[in-house]
Parts: sequence; structure tokens; C-alpha cells
Amino acid sequence: MAGDVWVFAEYQAGKIRKTSLEVLSKGRELAEQLGSGLGVLLLGSGVDGLAQELTAYADTVYYGDNPLLEKYNNDVYYQIIAALAEKEKPHILLAGATFLARDLFPRLAGRLKTGIAVDCLSLEMGDDGSLIARRPLFGGKVLADVVCREGRPQIALVRPNTFSLPDVQSPAQGKVLPLDVTVDTSQVKLEVLDVTRMAKERLDLTEAEIIVTGGRGMKGAENFQLLDDLADVLGATVGATRGVVDNGWRTHDDQVGKSGKTVSPKLYFAVGLSGAIHHVMGMNTSKVVVAINKDPQAPIFQYADYGVLGDLFEIVPLLTETLKKEI
Ligand SMILES: Cc1cc2nc3c(=O)[nH]c(=O)nc-3n(C[C@H](O)[C@H](O)[C@H](O)COP(=O)(O)OP(=O)(O)OC[C@H]3O[C@@H](n4cnc5c(N)ncnc54)[C@H](O)[C@@H]3O)c2cc1C
Repeated sequence: MAGDVWVFAEYQAGKIRKTSLEVLSKGRELAEQLGSGLGVLLLGSGVDGLAQELTAYADTVYYGDNPLLEKYNNDVYYQIIAALAEKEKPHILLAGATFLARDLFPRLAGRLKTGIAVDCLSLEMGDDGSLIARRPLFGGKVLADVVCREGRPQIALVRPNTFSLPDVQSPAQGKVLPLDVTVDTSQVKLEVLDVTRMAKERLDLTEAEIIVTGGRGMKGAENFQLLDDLADVLGATVGATRGVVDNGWRTHDDQVGKSGKTVSPKLYFAVGLSGAIHHVMGMNTSKVVVAINKDPQAPIFQYADYGVLGDLFEIVPLLTETLKKEI
């Protein structure tokens, strides 16, 4: 309905992504403040079950279920959302700041002639109904409050792990509205041939609540086993600095920082990494940082809540063994 708050939901491995649920929780809060409804958008193929699941969180579930939507294609997705938004006129459109959303929504904002705030750390309603989106600038040195004065919907992408998970309505009260998926194929210039997912047992870095990141101090790919062992005990995901990725010890998918992923876990272990600004930019909203480094001058200690000065090859195995007994 016109004036509603909308959330774009993503799914992975048959489950709604945690970041989308977090954004739904904030979306509900904003909708209550506005006195409006909460809508959720779901696009994919074979997503009936997920659409039903979302009725426990939103008032209206708009969903497009079509083989055309099976693999994400910007040319297709943006047409469908733009047409729906032009018809229904939502006031606010939110999504998690995932790779997909960062690709999709700037183009959508251009088409709808509205503004977009990316990588937001908080969202508040202004008295005049404008959305105040707080986002970092200059590598997190400044936090800016951004308002979209003209153009609707106001679009904001939220950094994963920023908001808590929503309450589940029981019984679910939302209604499901299947979309008529019509696409102007003359506008589809991109063909997605294949999507290759990395086989991963652990949560993606952007959604992990605990991250253990290793730097060049790890000395070699084989020593990352120490961090894998620690991560196993903690239920954590392993990250890497660019120095490590450049050395070919881990893949770019594991990289945290300016040219890697932006993460915001509850607990971040920085092991054998110096804390260069390009790295810190990707992790400085972690709630608690533990640094392990043998150089007392290492910049990472400036960002750490707990600093352990010493040789990681002694400390990490000791920590893993101790935690095994405690957890
Ligand atoms: C445009 C641009 C983008 C970039 N993007 C990124 C990015 O996304 N992510 C990123 O990480 N970097 C990025 N960088 C690179 C960044 O500037 C640093 O070069 C990089 O982060 C350094 O990696 P490091 O901390 O692993 O290595 P180093 O700076 O070499 O630090 C290694 C640390 O290990 C410690 N150490 C060594 N041995 C031990 C031991 N036995 N026990 C304990 N501690 C030990 C040392 O004291 C040292 O502090 C970028 C650079 C540029 C120019």
C-alpha cells in the first residue's frame, strides 16, 4: 500500500537470510512509528514456502515466483521491483547491505529518481516522516546522518548484524500477494550462465557473530589450521587480511576490509595482523575486539577491547584448549 515500509528479503540454501530478518525487525519498528503497514518483497523460483514463512513477520508478502527469477539478474530484478514500487508507492524500502543489494538498489534508486543510503548503522524516523540513516564515511572516521529530501521511497541498505532478530507472529498474520512477473526482455542485456557457490560449512563473514581473522603473522596457509580449530570451538567464521589473500593463503571471499567484506560481529579476534586502516575500515563496528600480536606498537591494539601481547603460535593453541574445557 502507498506509504508502507518495505523490506527486500534474500534467501540462501532454502532459508531467509539472517540479515533480511534483522532488517524486517527494524522495518516493523519504523512502520509502527509511521502508522503504516510492513511489506516484504521476495523474488525467486520455488519460493512458495519461504513466502508463507514471511507472513509471520510482515503484513504483506509480495512474491514473484518464476524460473526467470531463479538466478539473480540485475536487469530482471530491478524491472520487477521498479514497476511494483511505481504502482504501490512505498515510503521506505530497506534491505541488508549484501553484495546483491549493493548491486541492485543503486540502479533502482536511479530509475525511481530517489536517494539511497548504503551500509547504514542506524535508522530513525524524523518528525516529518523522513528516514534518518546513519552511515560511516572516510573509513568510519565520521558518521553522517543522511536524509533523502526528495524522491520516494527512501532506500537504505543496512550493515548485517546491526539489528536484532524480529519477533515471530504466531499465528502468522500477513497475507501473500503473488506478483505477475512480466519482464521487458529487450531490456535484459545480461545473461547469467551459472552461479558458483563456494562450499562453506561456516556462516558467511558478513553474518557471523564471531570472527577469527588471521594476518600475515600466520606465516603460511597451513597455519590457518590453528584458526580453524579455534573457530570450531567458538562456532566462528575465519577471516583474512588482504596481505594473506595476496599471498594466496586464503581466498578473497575471506577478506575483511576496504576491498573485502565489511563485518560487524559480536566478537572479533584479530590474530597476527597489524591493524592497517584499510583492514580496520571493514571491522571497526565489531562489538568486542580481541587482538593477539607480538608487537606492542601494532595499531590494532588501539582498536582492541582486549590486547594479548605475545606469540600467536603459543597463545592461539592455548586459547583453543582452554575454551574446549570451558565451553
Ligand atoms: C586500496 C587498498 C585497499 C586495501 N584493502 C584491504 C582490505 O580490504 N583488507 C586488508 O586487510 N587490507 C587491505 N589493504 C592492505 C592494508 O593496507 C595492509 O597492507 C594489510 O591489511 C596488512 O595485512 P596484515 O596486517 O596481515 O600484515 P602486516 O601489516 O604485515 O602485519 C602482520 C602483523 O603480524 C604480527 N606478527 C607477526 N608474527 C607474529 C606472531 N608470531 N605472533 C603474533 N603476531 C605476529 C606483526 O607484529 C604484524 O603486526 C588495502 C590496501 C590498499 C592500498
